[in-house]
Amino acid sequence: MLSFLKYLILPICLFSPSRKSLRNCFGIYFPYICNLKLIQNSMPFSSFGIAPFSSFGLSPDLLKVLADQNYTKPYPIQQEAIPAILKRKDVLGIAKTGSGKTASYVLPVLTNLQGNTASKNRHVNVLVLVPTRELAVQVQEVFHLFGSALPERIKSLAVFGGVAINPQMIALQNVNILVATPGRLLELVESNAVHLSGIDTLVLDEADKMLNLGFKEEMNRIIALLPKKRQNLLFSATLSDDISSINQILLHDPVVIKIESEADNIDLIDQLGYFVSEEKKGPLLRYLIKSKDLAQVLVFTSSVYKADNVADKLRKNGIDAAAMHSKKSQKARTDALSKFKTGKLRVLVATDLISRGIDIEFLPHVINYELPRSPKDYIHRIGRTGRAESSGEAISFVTPEDQHHFKIIQKKMGKWVTMIDSENLDLKGY
Ligand code: AMP
Repeated sequence: MLSFLKYLILPICLFSPSRKSLRNCFGIYFPYICNLKLIQNSMPFSSFGIAPFSSFGLSPDLLKVLADQNYTKPYPIQQEAIPAILKRKDVLGIAKTGSGKTASYVLPVLTNLQGNTASKNRHVNVLVLVPTRELAVQVQEVFHLFGSALPERIKSLAVFGGVAINPQMIALQNVNILVATPGRLLELVESNAVHLSGIDTLVLDEADKMLNLGFKEEMNRIIALLPKKRQNLLFSATLSDDISSINQILLHDPVVIKIESEADNIDLIDQLGYFVSEEKKGPLLRYLIKSKDLAQVLVFTSSVYKADNVADKLRKNGIDAAAMHSKKSQKARTDALSKFKTGKLRVLVATDLISRGIDIEFLPHVINYELPRSPKDYIHRIGRTGRAESSGEAISFVTPEDQHHFKIIQKKMGKWVTMIDSENLDLKGY
């Protein structure tokens, strides 16, 4: 309900004649600079009002690559950023890695470039500044993946320090999109290997990290070399004071998009852990489902075999359950998911791989029958329960072998989980 209200309130706040007083009433939507148009959204799996990629006006060749890549629908940041960038608006995106922010600018920037690539040699059209070599490579790969599907030849290149500069100087012939770390870019500019006066789109990706790494001066020097008239896209995981001040200097009437990450929702989730032996996991699962009368539970296992096995045993014990994993046919997966969503299936047992495609707005209970490999996956799994201002419960089964790993997960998450010893429970008969 609250998430629905926010979509009602936001347009009123933005367009009402007495915007100021409304903003004061609903200050949560104007935490930043008052004149910005702020769009808040949550992580990739909210299904509220999702428009398909095909509705944005992206190049049809890009739609084909999206389908090939299994990008079935836009993530929230893509939903908001793509139309704004296509309209040549400036954008401030507050979003972490993993939110889909790269494609949110790569797709519209490539579409905008179609028919506009003519420039003198060594004059690039698009400049993407990034903090690290790894991100430079990653972003360039995404430009290459989508750009190579377009009829017009678009050349992208990543340049970064810590490696020889000469090959980069040579490769800078006829580049349209340059992804660069600030220090190396300045070296290349100083040796006339590249000119920035033809830039019509500037992207600052992970701007907060660039500032943390001490690139502020370099960034200012680079920005001073750019033509005044250009589109600016600023992405940052946080909105610090430094980012706000860059944003005021750099962006004109920007569309501001804030994507909450799953980690931000952690406080909404009641987390519990059960110390349990491998053999007792099955009885413990059935005990929890029955004694707590859980109505809709997503259970995670780490293998296909285990998912099938857990679902079988639940069914044999009279609990309606289905497994969902990569070895199931698409039809079986879709059927199981739609039954689960509509409350006709009580327990869905899934592997991590498949969990990424599970599009459920809010889940009351998630059980980690087996722990995920990484803390990131743990947050991703349990993040399903803390959505849209609702609280949920996440339960993890921890065997003696898992204890060290679970400590690492908790440390990375920055939160300790209450542990219960299943030895003290009466699991007989489950
Ligand atoms: P990013 O935040 O840009 O690093 O993206 C995180 C991951 O999500 C990358 O592996 C992308 O390939 C993937 N991704 C981005 N957008 C989508 C989408 N709409 N559907 C499925 N996967 C996506």
